[in-house]
Amino acid sequence: MGIALIWEKRTKGQEDILCPKAFCDYCGEVIEDAYKGLYVWTRGEEDLTGAESFNFHTIHKGACDRGLCRRLGVDSHALLTHELRDLPVFLARNMGLEVEHVGDREETE
Ligand SMILES: [Zn+2]
Repeated sequence: MGIALIWEKRTKGQEDILCPKAFCDYCGEVIEDAYKGLYVWTRGEEDLTGAESFNFHTIHKGACDRGLCRRLGVDSHALLTHELRDLPVFLARNMGLEVEHVGDREETE
């Protein structure tokens, strides 16, 4: 599922809102803490123009990371990975936005 919009319940008196959430492509759960997630991609196939495509996944670190490797039939070195916490900044920069990376929390797992 990767990233999808889901309805988030608001407090009494406020309307529910659609929120983008990252889902783990192994266990299916929402990745609530970006510090405990990764985004990974594997090589796909060439499209009709000959351009190379990539399969994109969001996953929890640890057991889900290893499980996705087993499911894909690859070892962990075949996955190209980045910390999920960096994805918003990466997207913003690629979309011409200027943002500061404020994450200074210790890595988990
Ligand atoms: Zn998971």
